[in-house]
Amino acid sequence: MKLENFIHNKPFVIAGPCSAESENQVLKTAENIQQNIDVFRAGVWKPRTKPNSFEGVGEKALIWLQKVKEETGLKVITEVATAKHVEHCLEAGIDMLWIGARTTVNPFYVQEIAEALRGTDTPVFVKNPIHPELSLWAGALERLNQKGITNLSAIHRGFFTYESSAFRNEPKWEVPIELKRNFPDLPIICDPSHIAGDRSLIPELSQIAMDLDMRGLMIETHHNPTEAWSDANQQLSPKELYSLLKGLVLRKRDFENDELSIQLNKMRNLIDKLDKKTVDLLSSRTDLVKEIAEFKLKNNLTIFQLKRWFQILEMRKDQAVNLGLDQKMISDIFELIHKYSIITQTKIMKK
Ligand code: PEP
Ligand code: MN
Repeated sequence: MKLENFIHNKPFVIAGPCSAESENQVLKTAENIQQNIDVFRAGVWKPRTKPNSFEGVGEKALIWLQKVKEETGLKVITEVATAKHVEHCLEAGIDMLWIGARTTVNPFYVQEIAEALRGTDTPVFVKNPIHPELSLWAGALERLNQKGITNLSAIHRGFFTYESSAFRNEPKWEVPIELKRNFPDLPIICDPSHIAGDRSLIPELSQIAMDLDMRGLMIETHHNPTEAWSDANQQLSPKELYSLLKGLVLRKRDFENDELSIQLNKMRNLIDKLDKKTVDLLSSRTDLVKEIAEFKLKNNLTIFQLKRWFQILEMRKDQAVNLGLDQKMISDIFELIHKYSIITQTKIMKK
């Protein structure tokens, strides 16, 4: 069963609690959301950052997931981190598995899981690793693929950051976009719960995921979220899940209308022209940088002058403010331009 086959122009929705806590909690949540979702999730073994936190009830929750299947007809999914977990899930008839962020980072565990799954066609969803290292995410997918596990999807759940952020995990949307560029046929779904860490941010993140053409959502949902034993702040109630899904705006991927395509292409041509001018300007700027480097060399001056660099940044940021542009965008761009200016000058000074 390929995820692609499930989707008919609507997001593929996986929802359910962060952790399976009791038979009653699992069944009650599943009954309340069954009409609106494709697959029911619940963590059985929970990889918690700190010891002494609730680490999941373990194997006995697999029986509760079997009951969800029987009573609702939903497919069920849970997280596996070891070969033993995989064996228990296969025995219990769990339909799909996900590999968590803390496991994707560890090639030994991914290898062990791949070997335990060999010869099955269980769909496997691979979450991004905790830090934004694309090759580790791609490597885990490749490792599974090499063992013949081809029913693969990715889950984008955001990345740990030391910088202050409104989110528990920074979305860094560019990372899943790059994964998609490398594997165009790989379905990617978004887990806005683990990105947000706060239920109020989940709807807007879900909409961004849809606007970026992600194929689905994994949303933590609990029949009584504030009482949840793990991730209580980021779980939705069944009602909140329903209104989120109802409120999503699903846009089309392409125009069927030729007139609209022509208009869009005209605007894209203008962008192409502006980008060409930008590259031409960067080329002229690099010529000037080289001239300055020759001048510094001849007159025995250091490449880097802190005062001048601060002045450039301040002037460009002021200009950004005057033009109503994002200051951070402009300072990021000039940091990069400056980095390459230093590289160009260093090469000349070494001559
Ligand atoms: C989870 O989905 O409950 C979970 C532990 O996720 P992650 O691996 O993204 O932290
Ligand atoms: Mn969770």
